[in-house]
Amino acid sequence: MVSRVIPVDTFDLVIFGGTGDLARRKILPGLFRRFIAGQMPGDSRVIGAARSDMGDDDYRQLVREAISEFGGQEKSDTANLDAFLGQLHYVQVDATGDGGWSDLSDLMRPDVVRAFYFSVAPSLFGALAERLHNHGIADRHSRIVVEKPLGRDLDGARALNQTLAEHFHEGQIYRIDHYLGKETVQNLMAVRFGNVLFEPLWNNHYVDHIQITVAETVGVGGRGAYYDKSGAMRDMVQNHLMQLVCLIAMEPPGQFEADAVRDEKLKVIRALQSVPAHHIVRGQYEATETEPSYREDADNPRSFTESFIAMRCEIANWRWAGVPFYLRTGKKMRARSSEIAVVFKDLGHSIFEGDVARHRNILSIRLQPNEGIDLQVTIKEPGPGGMRLVDVPLDLTFAEALGEDAEEVPDAYERLIMDVIRGNQTLFMRGDEVEAAWAWTDPIINAWEERSDVPKLYEPGSTGPEDSQMLLHREGRRWRDIKA
Ligand code: NAP
Repeated sequence: MVSRVIPVDTFDLVIFGGTGDLARRKILPGLFRRFIAGQMPGDSRVIGAARSDMGDDDYRQLVREAISEFGGQEKSDTANLDAFLGQLHYVQVDATGDGGWSDLSDLMRPDVVRAFYFSVAPSLFGALAERLHNHGIADRHSRIVVEKPLGRDLDGARALNQTLAEHFHEGQIYRIDHYLGKETVQNLMAVRFGNVLFEPLWNNHYVDHIQITVAETVGVGGRGAYYDKSGAMRDMVQNHLMQLVCLIAMEPPGQFEADAVRDEKLKVIRALQSVPAHHIVRGQYEATETEPSYREDADNPRSFTESFIAMRCEIANWRWAGVPFYLRTGKKMRARSSEIAVVFKDLGHSIFEGDVARHRNILSIRLQPNEGIDLQVTIKEPGPGGMRLVDVPLDLTFAEALGEDAEEVPDAYERLIMDVIRGNQTLFMRGDEVEAAWAWTDPIINAWEERSDVPKLYEPGSTGPEDSQMLLHREGRRWRDIKA
């Protein structure tokens, strides 16, 4: 298959926090891959901005090392790397002070796309927005990029939205949830809305339930103190899992366009029912002989913060009434594995003699580690021996068809940054979506805090507390395996 990479318009991308972890780990290696793919015009520039005192050459060296540490195969492409680094600049600037802003202003060019990635703590967003405005660096066509945490409750999210709205209109604000940038997540929309097969079945008449699992093997480790103020509900469910629920549950938008898609997602969030306490299981990982417990990692011996959560949600609308959405996410789980599974109902009656198995069609969308979509179908076991039925996965992934070009599939950050430059907000969260998600999350968290809810302990390397199995067992269902 021929690669169809279309270069974006020439841009100046300023990364505030261009020396930080997110920039070095994700943003800069991602930009380099887009450069190699031919998508970044040769006269575009990436400008790192932070308080550290360094020049362009120091910054290029920092980025060279970041790509060597965090890049994939592309890091051996030294010729391209030198050319890419040549497009990098650095400006010393303090978000909360006045130094450096006129240097940045001088560097910016007219008539190119201007984008500003706020890869700094959210407490600095307001100061950055104000200075970009006051120094005339951002105009009505400029874009800003922000990402989680977008508040830690509804009030915080509203305050953040208001702060950004003082200087930027909604069409300029790109709120990243990198789950939306994943190839498979977009393929899910193509499978749903590009085929006649699925849409008639996509409702409570044919779907038994939905499972969404995001399991990590790592603990909270070095970021324990930060994580302890957040927990799995705030860190994962309110944003990433919620976005996945939206894409599964939303009505078909009139067209694949930013506000049409986001209007439908918003309706899903608003239709989410409040979740009773007995439909939620919270967990904290224990210590092993060699590794610390969650509380030790968080350096908080009395922490009630959850490193695991499983919950049963319902969406109150005609399409989904009565269909459970089971969500589960945790640290130190058996395997690193993220998956959405749409489990269709049983046949009800089998015409095949002796066939007692419970055959089910399951559409499974794997987000990591191996992105892909497959549909479990029931077929005849090949060979003689009568009509024996087996369930097999039908691979709906394009990777094989793409052959050698498969490696060119951009990762989530690359794709989303290019969408920012293109001015396409379809895969970004709108402010009202974020607020609606917090409006659903807040009462759940407040209830835990009011009754000092203590998470159940679970063994590292397991599937979470035993009670999470019960959440499904008592309804005659079971979680899918967590496997890499
Ligand atoms: P980090 O490693 O602590 O980096 C922070 C960056 O901000 C540094 O470049 C720092 O450089 C700069 N900075 C700090 N204070 C500044 C100021 N007053 N003016 C200008 N620059 C300043 O943090 P990070 O992990 O990259 O995270 C950045 C943001 O992304 C945070 O909001 C985080 O929650 C979010 N995020 C990060 C990840 C991730 O994987 N790391 C994932 C999702 C979301 P100087 O000290 O030189 O100024």
